[in-house]
Amino acid sequence: GRASDGAKRGRRHARPTRGGLLPRGCGRAAKQMVEERERFAHISKLTTRTGPLANAGNYGTLFEPSLPFEPSEMVLTFLRSHARVLVVGAGGLGCELLKDLALSGFGKIDVIDMDTIDVSNLNRQFLFRKADVGRPKATVAAEFVSRRVQGVEVQAHYCPIQDKDATWYQQFQVIVMGLDSIEARRWLNAMACSLVTFETDASGERKPDLSTVIPLVDGGTEGFSGHVRVIYPCISGCFECTIDLFPPQQAVPLCTIAETPRNAAHCILYAHLVEAPKAFGDEKQDKDDPQYQAWVCQRAQQRAMQFDIAGVTLMHTQGVIKNIIPAIASTNAIVAAACSNEVFKIVTNSAAYLNNNLMYMGGQGVYAPTFEYQRNPSCIACGAGIVLGISPRASLTLLMEAMADDPRLRLKSPSIRIESGALGSSTLYMRGPLESHFRSNLEASISSFVSDGAQLIVTDPAVPSPCIKVVLEFTKADEPM
Ligand SMILES: [Zn+2]
Repeated sequence: GRASDGAKRGRRHARPTRGGLLPRGCGRAAKQMVEERERFAHISKLTTRTGPLANAGNYGTLFEPSLPFEPSEMVLTFLRSHARVLVVGAGGLGCELLKDLALSGFGKIDVIDMDTIDVSNLNRQFLFRKADVGRPKATVAAEFVSRRVQGVEVQAHYCPIQDKDATWYQQFQVIVMGLDSIEARRWLNAMACSLVTFETDASGERKPDLSTVIPLVDGGTEGFSGHVRVIYPCISGCFECTIDLFPPQQAVPLCTIAETPRNAAHCILYAHLVEAPKAFGDEKQDKDDPQYQAWVCQRAQQRAMQFDIAGVTLMHTQGVIKNIIPAIASTNAIVAAACSNEVFKIVTNSAAYLNNNLMYMGGQGVYAPTFEYQRNPSCIACGAGIVLGISPRASLTLLMEAMADDPRLRLKSPSIRIESGALGSSTLYMRGPLESHFRSNLEASISSFVSDGAQLIVTDPAVPSPCIKVVLEFTKADEPM
């Protein structure tokens, strides 16, 4: 009932332009305004009224932690013109996210993705058409949404996430991830954590400066299952805190496959790994070859019959030998909608946001429990950092030697930059092709770059984490280093 009342009211508002009551020449702009008001009528309801869950956000808004949610027309204006959201990934989740955010009132969206469109994406990545195959996903998705939703500016970045630096990531209010790789999530998580600066309070405890915290919303899907997670870097449990949840992929022991197959996948793997090498010798088989797939399927069916196992189909065979988990369009839609909802709540503070993880298991029903991931106090990404004592007169070379000797670090070839919050970061020393630009820094004393308590961001190929926070504590000048 209420929704249709709203629609009627919207139509009544629209009448003056159609009746020609506005001055000539204003028609187009006025029509656009009315269209926009109609389009965002549902968002207006959330931003111009308060509710029992408003102000229940766990940490307040990031912009003004002390400012409560005040329903106002300005909230929508803020969404339309000022709030900036970064969408990472323009695949199955990314397409949904861009559409959802654009229709939730966000007017300034950036999207970053390094992939191009493949014909196999077209069934679910609905911003792409056949003519777009081969073009960058980010570019095509941005064009589509900008064209389709009036007044929304989507900027595309066709490159790896690692090509952008800290200063670039700092311009966003929220970063929402629609990724399929753990490595990319880990890198972004470490980047977001490295942007947080710490302040020492009266009791001497180091606390994150809220104004430097950029929340992450992480969506993920796998077949009929999915998750949504809200991470406040250095405040709530981060991706690195719970990295143990992603054990390296467990291979099925070959003896199980050979001797005691229990399911269809075991039969398929037997045909693929044991029978095929016998049948074809050293000649390597192409997993994408339909003839080979049919051969494996047929052999697997024979074996399945022998062990009274059901479920060997050609599609299952393709999935197993190519190690594919099917992408389900509806799972993407559900997870992306939940992610966009979190982004909206974080930016507007109009309702409490997720604390901090939601599991969706569509294969078993619609039950979607939430629970809180805890922080790991010794997390290398979101901890307050490793405090390293050093003389201010020591050279950068000596600092790197100290980093190599320290048992907590054991860095072999560190690259070092200074993190200074909103001012961005500057590189002190970098390995690789640009090394010569920074070589002159090596003999300069540390105090010529930074002051006591400075936070350094260190990366090193010897360490699995994308970066490590090191806090310098200057020793007295006359103390031995
Ligand atoms: Zn952490």
